[in-house]
Amino acid sequence: MTQLVWFRSDLRTRDNPALWHACKHIEEGVVGVVFVTRQQWLQHGLGERKIQLLENAMLALKSELASLNIPLLILPANTFADCNQTLQRLIIQLDIRSVSFNIEYEVNERRRDIEFGRWCREQQVELYKFHDQCVVPPGEVRTKQGQPFKVFTPFKRAWIQQAEDIMAAPLPQPGPCEKNIQAPLIALINAQASLSLNTDPITASADPLWPVSEEEAHLRLNNFAYERGIDYKKLRDFPAEDMTSRLSVYLSLGLISARQCLHVALDRNNGLFSGGKPGFDCWISELIWREFYRHLLVAFPQLCKHKAFKPETEQVCWRDSEADFQAWCEGRTGYPIVDAAQKQLLQEGWMHNRLRMISAMFLTKHLLIDWRKGEAFFNKWLLDADLASNNGGWQWSASTGADGVPYFRIFNPTTQSQRFDAEGQFIVRYLPELTPLPAAARHQPDSLQRQRCGYPQAVVEHKFARQRALDAFKQTLTAADAGDNNDE
Ligand SMILES: Cc1cc2nc3c(=O)[nH]c(=O)nc-3n(C[C@H](O)[C@H](O)[C@H](O)COP(=O)(O)OP(=O)(O)OC[C@H]3O[C@@H](n4cnc5c(N)ncnc54)[C@H](O)[C@@H]3O)c2cc1C
Repeated sequence: MTQLVWFRSDLRTRDNPALWHACKHIEEGVVGVVFVTRQQWLQHGLGERKIQLLENAMLALKSELASLNIPLLILPANTFADCNQTLQRLIIQLDIRSVSFNIEYEVNERRRDIEFGRWCREQQVELYKFHDQCVVPPGEVRTKQGQPFKVFTPFKRAWIQQAEDIMAAPLPQPGPCEKNIQAPLIALINAQASLSLNTDPITASADPLWPVSEEEAHLRLNNFAYERGIDYKKLRDFPAEDMTSRLSVYLSLGLISARQCLHVALDRNNGLFSGGKPGFDCWISELIWREFYRHLLVAFPQLCKHKAFKPETEQVCWRDSEADFQAWCEGRTGYPIVDAAQKQLLQEGWMHNRLRMISAMFLTKHLLIDWRKGEAFFNKWLLDADLASNNGGWQWSASTGADGVPYFRIFNPTTQSQRFDAEGQFIVRYLPELTPLPAAARHQPDSLQRQRCGYPQAVVEHKFARQRALDAFKQTLTAADAGDNNDE
């Protein structure tokens, strides 16, 4: 019996439970399938650079699997519905009796899988589903009353208790598959592959900033764990230092798993989830934030549908200023730290976490523009774009989310800049026109300095904007909404 593995956001061969299962239950060989769903991705708001990266990661997976004697079909499909149809045809053509995949949690993806599961039952095709995105599967961390957690700190406590019980070493890469798939199947696969590539060729070209392969992901993990992790707590908030792991891109493509990251972190932290070395305690905590947002997405599917977690915040009267929004998108707000952050996003496809908070809060509080517009913009430009974490981060910053920052705690971008980029080193990396200014002036140049450097005046004055945001939120939220948050 040929086993089929359907790859999605798990483009790796190591610690991949679906692949592992197929290789362990092999009778006549294993075939992999992955879909290039360009139209669906565009509908989901992904940018071209991320799509390119996804395609590159698929090609990297193809060559990794080839070394295991497992062919990978990279098939085009416009939508998720098309994936199901194509796969069903293929399963019938190849007489496949067993399929395995790792579960995706977003609403459209779940709908696709429910449909596919129904078809498999009807056709008596065995279907094996696995959790690979979280260390503790969503839905399994609950309050004593059996409810999902809405606040991070108690979630983290409960999560650690469970993770301690179930945390096992990551699965290794399966050994090379000794059973070849039969010749007629190969012919069918080749025909299918060339047909699909004719209709939608993959034009992969490497992104020099983000080489995609499992090997690269592990290099970055080890490099972080052995060189920078120890100082993570002390230095992670300073964007010029580049002290974070930059693994989010690799996690979002599934080139590395959260369990693999956690495993290395635990190894460096004397096996402790917390109470070990501050750098690793803190990094593990960030990985748990990632889990928290995924658990929320599953427990509250309205988060996938552009809804605020706190329904009352739907009453906030957001401003509809296209000019201000464009200034923010393009890094022309006249607030250097915000503009440098936006330039980093546009140039690198990634933004430092501290800056994501500053920039998101600036858009939603200073400009009072709906968080959904910012979320969509980040989703288009971030190479680590991930619905759960992006939505979580935006709703945290906009004070509309579970355990979001209290609405009255509005970051002052200039103070944040002075605190986290004291010398303005990060600012001038992305706004070289401000280099001639003394460090102290880079955070908030005066009018004359702006003119001389060709740098725009501020789109809005801080005190005025702060008060405007407070007034807009006061009507819908109360001070009692203050909660635990990740802005230490
Ligand atoms: C407005 C906003 C939008 C965001 N959008 C995304 C997104 O689309 N995709 C994404 O992966 N992260 C997002 N984040 C979370 C965070 O900013 C990034 O995960 C982090 O900056 C990635 O850099 P790193 O890999 O160097 O992280 P590290 O600091 O090295 O952390 C390790 C890993 O922990 C996870 N992590 C760290 N911080 C957070 C956090 N606050 N929330 C959830 N997970 C976290 C990430 O998977 C990260 O790779 C967003 C945060 C905000 C405030």
